[in-house]
Amino acid sequence: MVVSAVDPRERLGAAVGSGVVSADLVVPGGGQEVRQGWVSFEAGILTGIGTGAPPQTPVAHADVLLPGFVDQHCHGGGGASFSSAEPDQIRRVADVHLRHGTTTLVASLVSEAVATLLAQVEALAEAADRGIVAGIHLEGPWIARGKCGAHDPEVLRPPTHLEIANLLAAGRGFIRQVTLAPELPGAMPAIEQLVGAGVRVAIGHTECSLDIAQEAIACGATVATHLWNAMPPLGHRQPGPIAALLTAPEVYLEVVNDGVHVDPAVLRVTLDAAGGTRVVVMTDAMGAADASDGPYLLGGLDVMVTDRVARVVATGAIAGSTLTMDEAVGRARRVLGMGWQDLSNVAAGNAARAMGLVGVGAIEVGSAADLVLLTDHAELVTVVKSGVVLPGPATVTV
Ligand SMILES: [Zn+2]
Repeated sequence: MVVSAVDPRERLGAAVGSGVVSADLVVPGGGQEVRQGWVSFEAGILTGIGTGAPPQTPVAHADVLLPGFVDQHCHGGGGASFSSAEPDQIRRVADVHLRHGTTTLVASLVSEAVATLLAQVEALAEAADRGIVAGIHLEGPWIARGKCGAHDPEVLRPPTHLEIANLLAAGRGFIRQVTLAPELPGAMPAIEQLVGAGVRVAIGHTECSLDIAQEAIACGATVATHLWNAMPPLGHRQPGPIAALLTAPEVYLEVVNDGVHVDPAVLRVTLDAAGGTRVVVMTDAMGAADASDGPYLLGGLDVMVTDRVARVVATGAIAGSTLTMDEAVGRARRVLGMGWQDLSNVAAGNAARAMGLVGVGAIEVGSAADLVLLTDHAELVTVVKSGVVLPGPATVTV
């Protein structure tokens, strides 16, 4: 089974809109920045980019216009979870993150027993069919017990051809990414099986060495799941997987930029080492994103969220984040002083390329009219999804 390309023009039943938005700076992502620019769209598709007087009165204006954010790794938000397998909760997660600028979202599932995982994948494939999510990310269950983080160690296991085939069948082409630990027995054939089916393989929750990580990349792995977290540290005599991932030009590097998972200085190191076109800022958000502190479930594990930090009750391990993409981007701008072109890449274009998503992640004619309007300080002002300007208290009038 081969992963289908997600074409925004084929979303079923999704609302679409027409109009023009303008900004002091339009950052297309990959292309030239446009000062005093505008973007027009019809029936949810971008039809023009220009400078100077817009062709009609803009429906929204802000300091900066970026492509809508693409989050390739997210478990939940608004008190809801993708692992629930409930359509209402799945939609709620997508809606909550959309309000924070995520116009394209890949739904992540933590490790589970196979029967549970099959049911969750079927529910998310349904949501993907309807354009609510852009695909499914299996984070495990083929990951290392010693780096299980917020995954139930009891359900972790080596991959088998049959189990992968069954999950791919349940996913109906929508499983877009799988995180696995390449040191597990059978991992290399599993990588080849997944890549052959069009699935992106991510190295993560691993105890592997430099050599094994390099072998996995040679087999086709192209993503690092939350680089730095849930893997051996970079040592000058024991470089481990991080050295392999940082130096492989074909590997996209996820970073959870919440100020908790990695120090801002380490994000700077990652950007300097890998360049702005390989780093992917994602959320790894769980149910408490845009919801209150307190007790939550992540997969089968009890999690407590205190002061916006989620931890597994039994072990104290960090259990995903409470991050939203607008917060991650704002932090990158304000703490690291990242430029707009880099922000456009790390928050949208790189993830779209990493996941093979077409028609999203850039402002170009023919793409989905998925846009975020921001202040100079990278505070979210307005979100446009498929040409529809989302209502919200922060919406500005021109
Ligand atoms: Zn995760």
